[in-house]
Amino acid sequence: MIRRNTNQSQIVYKSIEFMGHTTSERLIEYINSNYENISLATIYRNLSKLLEEGQIKKLRLGQEEIYETVKEKHYHFKCAKCGMIYDISPSMVNLPSFEEIDGNEVTGTDLMFVGICKKCKKIS
Ligand SMILES: [Zn+2]
Ligand SMILES: [Zn+2]
Repeated sequence: MIRRNTNQSQIVYKSIEFMGHTTSERLIEYINSNYENISLATIYRNLSKLLEEGQIKKLRLGQEEIYETVKEKHYHFKCAKCGMIYDISPSMVNLPSFEEIDGNEVTGTDLMFVGICKKCKKIS
């Protein structure tokens, strides 16, 4: 029983890692076409387990809730055309770091750039 749960949470983690950024809907489709069918309830249970353990995180990008594995600090770029989300390392954008804004202590950023990605630019 314990072994089975471990494997399922591994499958969920590995799938998110492979996909980079994913909504729960796309994650479920991916898992069901690449592994044996795992029930929705099981996937959601493992998602919250992995969140609790700090192995993955959930971000809100526009209207969507996106899951990704926990990596180094980064920002996001979302393509308005294909919807692809890219990780942007802080060294690529060289933003000033704030410790305080208008009297509020800053503990992090959840920044998203939007535009047309390099792949879509090539096609058009
Ligand atoms: Zn694109
Ligand atoms: Zn990311």
